[in-house]
Amino acid sequence: MSKIAIMLQLNDNWDSFVRYRDFRIDGILIDIPTSPEIVEYESIIITENTPTVIEVGQVYKDKKIIASAMKHYSVMNKFQFRMKRSSTRSYCVVCVGEDCTWHFKSTIINDSAMFKVRKFNSLHACSLMDNTYIHRKPTSMVVGSMVIPKYGDPKIVYTPKDIQTDMLCVHDLSLIYMQAWRAKEKALEFLRGDPADSYSRLPSYLYILEKTYLGSVVKLKKTDDNCFLYAFVAMSMSINGWKYCRPVVVVDGTFLKSVYMGIMLTASTMDATGSILPLAYAVVDSENEASWK
Ligand SMILES: [Zn+2]
Repeated sequence: MSKIAIMLQLNDNWDSFVRYRDFRIDGILIDIPTSPEIVEYESIIITENTPTVIEVGQVYKDKKIIASAMKHYSVMNKFQFRMKRSSTRSYCVVCVGEDCTWHFKSTIINDSAMFKVRKFNSLHACSLMDNTYIHRKPTSMVVGSMVIPKYGDPKIVYTPKDIQTDMLCVHDLSLIYMQAWRAKEKALEFLRGDPADSYSRLPSYLYILEKTYLGSVVKLKKTDDNCFLYAFVAMSMSINGWKYCRPVVVVDGTFLKSVYMGIMLTASTMDATGSILPLAYAVVDSENEASWK
């Protein structure tokens, strides 16, 4: 790609907005000569793992992207591949079909993280298509990454059944319910991360909450073996607002549906205009006497 450089000659004369008052353009330089290696870097770099075509010469952001793009490709084209070579510098796969000619080779570009497609024979000599197409892990990974946008809006309900219907409709891909269910779980994991990670970040989150909103009451209780037990949060704005509200507190609990289950307890009240003001919330293991205390 060519670059444009503008050379300015400045006279150190600033205005009140700290801009140069006057300057002179010396010249414009177009088409900086590039070395052959740089031309290779400047091909369009593919950063998403669901490209519609795969061909020789494509440059992928890194090995992870090229590997998941290949998994996506195999799902779309209904065949399985196996690893021929995989290292930090190369990623080569072949079709699992006996004597099949389908093969794919990509290697790293110099010392960058980018991978370039060097060889790709997309023609199969095997008759594997559709027959042995049951490959649990890649399917849920690939389908999961394809349906991520559906889970961006919590108001939209998108069930495993919807995944089955859409995959069949749009991609002619037939999934059993469990595959669709796993794909949904994967998509949610991509979006929200691992629940265990979220819990491990809770102490720092609560610490920042307490430091930012001075006067808040934040408590985290752990078990003897350092596991999460209870968390309690009452924000300073809620505490300050309480004195302007009706002297009625409504408490309720709801089940958490993540892998660690638990119950979320809330305490709310109503202000003079009839709007609900949340006073405090807590996450506990279950609604028992100990947790209410
Ligand atoms: Zn094949």
